[in-house]
Amino acid sequence: MELWFSEYQTKNVKLSFRIKEILYATQSEYQKISVYETEDFGRLLTLDDLVMLTTKDEYIYHEMISHVPMLTHGNASKVLVIGGGDGGTVRELLKHPVKEVHLVEIDKEVVETSKKYFPSVSCGLTDPRVKIFYEDGIEFVKKNKGYDVIIIDSTDPIGPAEGLFSTQFYKNVYSALNEDGIVVAQTETPILLGDLVRKIYKDMSSVFAYTNMYTAVIPTYPGALWTFTMGSKTINPVTKEISSMPNLDTKYYTRELHKSYFILPPFVGKLISE
Ligand code: SAM
Repeated sequence: MELWFSEYQTKNVKLSFRIKEILYATQSEYQKISVYETEDFGRLLTLDDLVMLTTKDEYIYHEMISHVPMLTHGNASKVLVIGGGDGGTVRELLKHPVKEVHLVEIDKEVVETSKKYFPSVSCGLTDPRVKIFYEDGIEFVKKNKGYDVIIIDSTDPIGPAEGLFSTQFYKNVYSALNEDGIVVAQTETPILLGDLVRKIYKDMSSVFAYTNMYTAVIPTYPGALWTFTMGSKTINPVTKEISSMPNLDTKYYTRELHKSYFILPPFVGKLISE
């Protein structure tokens, strides 16, 4: 009997994975958490039947959401990750000489699931520099400050993540950042959600002196072309010279392309400037 998992990327488009085995499924307080062993993409984590990561291509997203802000900042020692319960972003951040990484994940069961089924992704979560808070990131940034970099590695703007895509939230992030602070958020696909991408860019632009978008190809995400939006108080990412240290072990991110990441495909540039 054929076994498939399909993600409906729109009501008319779905991405399907042939499945070897359904390894785990549960309903947490916040979402349905599922783990599959797939034929071609390794292990797959879904939340509410939406692809979060596969072990075949997760490095792309996690490298791009981490190394671009960290090398743009150049001297980050205290970093905050909101969402990111699978641990992939934390794993990449720990390749830098950070002193503290705070992970604020609303759903403890996502962390526990990743620790059990995705050891290569969650491996950094037990590092002594990492502190995990099982809280709502929306509230956390109102009460905590002093971060050099803040990364919003959240689910889509529905349910508990909806408030992570608002001007008020970006203002609270601004206050939680140090004077040379930088925030990066995963900001969805311009292929299928152009209006949302434009709105997010404009919201962040209304708060930060420098707002720059960059993209990456993520085969298992809707539309495959993904955006990240960086807000910076004082650092211009397009002109900032990045250091050659630390030596990073990466498979997608490369320093040689760092500045060019901020050169957008013309259709994306047009989309966010409309
Ligand atoms: N890379 C994925 C993407 O782009 O969709 C995100 C991965 S990570 C698993 C997303 C995490 O955000 C989930 O574990 C979810 O529980 C968490 N999350 C959603 N809303 C949150 C909130 N308000 N505060 C903290 N964590 C939140």
